[in-house]
Amino acid sequence: MKIFKTVPLIQQYLKSDKSLNIGYVPTMGGLHEGHLSLLKIAKRLSDICVSSIYVNPSQFNEKEDFEKYPRVFEKDVEKLIKTGNDVLFYPTDEEVYPENLDTSIDIDMGILGDIMEGKYRPGHFEGMLEVVHRLINIIHPDYLIMGQKDIQQAKLVDKMIAQLNLDVKLVVGPTTREIDGLAMSSRNRRLKPETRDKATIIYQTLCWAADAIHEQNIKSIETKAMEMLTNEDFQPEYFQIVDAETLHPVDQLIENMNLMACTAVWAGEIRLIDNMFLQKKL
Ligand code: AMP
Repeated sequence: MKIFKTVPLIQQYLKSDKSLNIGYVPTMGGLHEGHLSLLKIAKRLSDICVSSIYVNPSQFNEKEDFEKYPRVFEKDVEKLIKTGNDVLFYPTDEEVYPENLDTSIDIDMGILGDIMEGKYRPGHFEGMLEVVHRLINIIHPDYLIMGQKDIQQAKLVDKMIAQLNLDVKLVVGPTTREIDGLAMSSRNRRLKPETRDKATIIYQTLCWAADAIHEQNIKSIETKAMEMLTNEDFQPEYFQIVDAETLHPVDQLIENMNLMACTAVWAGEIRLIDNMFLQKKL
């Protein structure tokens, strides 16, 4: 596996054979099977599989979360090599945000900027879109592979691709879960063991909602789910049932519409997000 830390070097390498098609998975490291599943999709779709590890300061809205974010470069490299990743971009802040370059972008996020993650993590999506745009501009991938786990992020990246006319196709890979259903996340390793054991409640609540969707109305499912996710260890921020295409909130069941439940829950001091399809179009 080739590792590049600077923009000119990775660009020189990737441009050396322009006929090859590039599949790209951006990450912040602390890699787990979820990330690796996206790399496997990249490998299937393209000739060269590129990943990046960059903990982007501008998308963190809490200093402590940024400082404590897992940084385990050597272990990540081992996993990438085992999965067959071809090229890793591992830039410094100066490479991503050079002083003489204006990397800012202006995207109309619509309602997605104000609901769910947009509401509870002010500034997060602005920072995320800026860095993903910058990374796409450096790597010029044919395919960008992102996870359903962060569905609102993926939808916003798709909006950015459309609004800025970027020549890349977004592919969204399914969420990889632990055996008990907890969605894999780099932050899971920061959960206290007792909290980790109980964190399956998030998955169980989503499964309950998927069962309840044809029996109860949407508001009562949302209210009950918030109750199920509230106890001495857990505190939910939102449990929202949305149109899975637009992520716009839905207040009544419409036949033949893709529906999804999205949630964010504080598990002790760690904030976890997850989502699940409740109903899929026939
Ligand atoms: P992160 O390193 O958390 O920024 O995530 C990098 C990419 O991996 C994003 O596109 C995430 O949506 C995706 N991802 C994170 N967790 C999972 C998971 N459990 N299953 C599949 N993809 C994931």
